[in-house]
Amino acid sequence: MSRWVSAQLRQTVTIRADFLCEYCLVAEENTFYGCEVDHIISVKHGGSSEVDNLAYACAICNRYKGSDIGSIFWATGEFSRFFNPRTDRWAEHFQLEQEFIKPLTIIGEVTARILEFNDSARLHEREEMIRFGKYPNEVALARMMR
Ligand SMILES: [Zn+2]
Repeated sequence: MSRWVSAQLRQTVTIRADFLCEYCLVAEENTFYGCEVDHIISVKHGGSSEVDNLAYACAICNRYKGSDIGSIFWATGEFSRFFNPRTDRWAEHFQLEQEFIKPLTIIGEVTARILEFNDSARLHEREEMIRFGKYPNEVALARMMR
């Protein structure tokens, strides 16, 4: 399975994502390291490089996610997949409470934990973006509401 993503496909993914990280909903222009094309199901686990398996992710979410596809929900000991930006609604799994991205579901919990949505540096950064009206931006807010 190829992990290669053409420039055209990359552009399709970027535009579809409204230039947002589809996990933490930060706008690419407000990231230090930019955004990258993420394989939702990693190539290692048999995921394809088709557009339906691709998401736009900030470098930080993408680093923490790595080739993982989910984690253990420790309250029950069961495996849960991660949030899938192609098939899941953000608002169903997460809720923004000030700078904190609160998980609402088991999928939300494992995603927020492994992608470190709420580590102290990211909370501080999000707090600053909120203060300057940069988070959530208009398109991110729409994703948080629907
Ligand atoms: Zn992100």
